[in-house]
Amino acid sequence: MSAVRQQQSTGTQQRTITIRNPITGESVGTVPRHTADDVIAAVERARAAQKHWAETPFRDRAAIFKRFHDLILQDQDAIMDVIQAESGKSRRDAFVEIFALACAARYYAYHGWKHIRPRRIRGGIPLRARAKVVYRPVGVVGIIGPWNFPLLLTVDDAIPALLAGNGVVIKPASLTPLSAIWAREKLIECGLPEGLIQVVTGPGGEVGNALIDHVDYLMFTGSTEIGRKVAERAAGRLIRYSMELGGKNAMIVLADANIKHAAIAAAEGAFNNCGQVCINWERVYVEAKIYDQFVSELIEQTKKLRLGTGKEFDYDLGSLISREQLEKVEEHVRDAVEKGAKVLVGGRPRPELGPYFYEPTVLAGVTPDMLVHSEETFGPVLSVYKVESADEAIRLANDSRYGLNAAIFTRRRRYGERLATRVDAGTVSVNDTQLGWITLHGPMGGFKESGVGRRHGPEGIRKYTEPQTIATNLTNFQIGSFETALSINRRMIGFLTLLLKLWRRIPFLR
Ligand code: NAD
Repeated sequence: MSAVRQQQSTGTQQRTITIRNPITGESVGTVPRHTADDVIAAVERARAAQKHWAETPFRDRAAIFKRFHDLILQDQDAIMDVIQAESGKSRRDAFVEIFALACAARYYAYHGWKHIRPRRIRGGIPLRARAKVVYRPVGVVGIIGPWNFPLLLTVDDAIPALLAGNGVVIKPASLTPLSAIWAREKLIECGLPEGLIQVVTGPGGEVGNALIDHVDYLMFTGSTEIGRKVAERAAGRLIRYSMELGGKNAMIVLADANIKHAAIAAAEGAFNNCGQVCINWERVYVEAKIYDQFVSELIEQTKKLRLGTGKEFDYDLGSLISREQLEKVEEHVRDAVEKGAKVLVGGRPRPELGPYFYEPTVLAGVTPDMLVHSEETFGPVLSVYKVESADEAIRLANDSRYGLNAAIFTRRRRYGERLATRVDAGTVSVNDTQLGWITLHGPMGGFKESGVGRRHGPEGIRKYTEPQTIATNLTNFQIGSFETALSINRRMIGFLTLLLKLWRRIPFLR
């Protein structure tokens, strides 16, 4: 991949990893296979650059990300080529990464400051003290990303971390490191100090662990299983972390929904990126009254999806990322069929298109003993369930160890919004698929085993800071335990008790 130059290795080792196109098997680039020592050196480089960066006014930091926003739109063909080459996704799905990343750059460049600027707060004791909170950068943030959105799910989280005044070291997934390396080059082109952002490449165990051992905050996106290990390691150092993990997301279609709209949204929300999206639907609960109609519309919409590869926007679904992923999808469908589920559409690999292509698949008759019922498939497989009521749909949607994303389709929007508060998921859309993700002003993340912490919104930038309270005594006297006029003796306690009683009753002071 000529567009992507290798990031400089520290020279402590010469080994490289060849990145291959999952569809053709061709080499599309090489990256260093970094060691733990390389990671330590990368963290030190970021730490050295961060000192000056933390003193840079926010508006100067933001200017870089406004340029970055424009540059990724301008150079979109180049980055889509890189994303497609290393992930095998469709052009359309590659563009989604650019769209979402531009939104994150815009949001934090224009709104980030109001979440981290110093805030005056009420002093601890009226008339005696004033106080403020300042949000100081944590130092160096480590970002470990997955392969399903190689550009978005590395840089999206780096933007607020950098804007908050931190250095960043990114460890992209081993299969897809080229997009993050491309983005680093673009950020430097836009004016980001070179040392401030580092990309380290290599196996998760070695490089990822070394990163956790040396950064000041860890942002992890990936599976719940690895997330748990990462959390344990980070907890051992008492560094803070946030985790965006797996999902088994449910969509609910009520009897009064616009059936065609719901069916299109079900197919789009289940099969985009070939189902390899943490917030995609893997379950849809449909009220009995419209079940048959919805299912036939869903089948029709699913049949319209075009599988294939190319640099045009002719295809909806590209390839799965790897043999491992294909085998997981096949296992889930095979297991379901063997136990009595029915394939309504799809259900087959498509080797003539490429080794890891799989048809978008809709299953009915799925029962709790099947793998696909509760385990995350992370592929183009959607199970449809018939329910008797909204209450049953919500109960079943919540019956999962995950709680990432959900949707409710109904013509009664306010009712949908009320029901949403009963669904245990970090984002719930009413009459849409992934609106929660693109609602940058609000937090996005997981309940239960789908994550810890949030990205986006105020939480998505404040988490990269250490809030510090600065309280100033405006008087020259001290209340103490020694025998002075203001010592805490019986008389003073009586006075303080009276003050506390009054204080609770004064609205602008309490
Ligand atoms: P994964 O957990 O296998 O890997 C994620 C990252 O962790 C990779 O960079 C990997 O190299 C690294 N890693 C592996 N072992 C490690 C270790 N011991 N210590 C530190 N790092 C280690 O996930 P994946 O297969 O790349 O991605 C798919 C999963 O990610 C799915 O479960 C999906 O739901 C989840 N995901 C979640 C979100 C979200 O926002 N909640 C977004 C995308 C993907």
